[in-house]
Amino acid sequence: MSILPSLKEFKRSSFRLRSPDAALIVDIFVPEGLYKTGCEACYRTKRPRLQQIMVSEEHPRYKSLMLRNKLVDGYEKGITSAHGLIAHGRGEAFDYLLGEQTSKNALGATKAACAYLLTARHPILSVNGNTAALASEEIAKFCTITDIPVEVNLFHRSAERIKRITDHLHAHGVANVLTGFDIIKLNHIASERAKVDKHGIFKADVVFAPLEDGDRAQALTQLGKVVLTVDLNPLSRTAVTSTVTIVDEVTRAMKNLISFAKHFARESNQDELDTLKASFNNVRNLKASYVIMLKRLQSVML
Ligand code: ATP
Repeated sequence: MSILPSLKEFKRSSFRLRSPDAALIVDIFVPEGLYKTGCEACYRTKRPRLQQIMVSEEHPRYKSLMLRNKLVDGYEKGITSAHGLIAHGRGEAFDYLLGEQTSKNALGATKAACAYLLTARHPILSVNGNTAALASEEIAKFCTITDIPVEVNLFHRSAERIKRITDHLHAHGVANVLTGFDIIKLNHIASERAKVDKHGIFKADVVFAPLEDGDRAQALTQLGKVVLTVDLNPLSRTAVTSTVTIVDEVTRAMKNLISFAKHFARESNQDELDTLKASFNNVRNLKASYVIMLKRLQSVML
């Protein structure tokens, strides 16, 4: 049975598809006004009677809707927590203020973060449920180029969720995911994120932790580790505590990180990487993000 509706059907806001023998009936819901032309993307959901949501690439919020779909999908698969969905909303609000694009300073921060990761003795990429749901493909590409291992670290931690996320990462091509069996508890972290792998975050000199929370960013820096993060909120405790804060949406940041890693893999130059690290200033970087938001608000003020 073809799951794709005809063009005539696109024009309606909802319709029903039947398999040839009518044994399977699928209700399709299309948010009003979403379609102009054909079906560029579709999304399956487990919610009863709601099998697919389709989003047109021409929709002005296409990218944002696709990210939300990925997260809802992650939630339904037990990868993302319900709280993670709310945290994404906070990120979206800041992205709106930032113009939903990578700024010059975010690109600079991404380059500096790449320099730190490539020159680290024991780098690690710490992945939570939101990052896994949104950026597994990008993580796989980045880790293949750089050989950096991944550790799953969760605020709402359970063995089952760790396994689900690990399986999800494996399925997207992330080869080296630490299994989380050799766990040690870090001090000064009042959440399950204190539990880290002896061979991963515990041993690491450079921890790349997108969508981090403030407590852990602080605790990791206090332990003398370099902390790199991606956070759309340049005011968060994580943003101000980390060594390098990429104020950008995580999938955009990961794509840029892949480009820098490819570039440095072709022409690796230790001096250039060291200069990038030494010349990076996170306070200046965050101030540049505040200025972007301020200018945006000033431009619409009456
Ligand atoms: P802190 O403890 O550091 O003050 P917080 O309590 O806001 O921050 P969380 O609730 O863990 O931290 O939220 C994670 C952060 O991730 C939020 O600041 C949010 O802006 C950011 N965020 C959410 N989604 C994305 C995304 N897709 N890309 C980048 N950042 C995001």
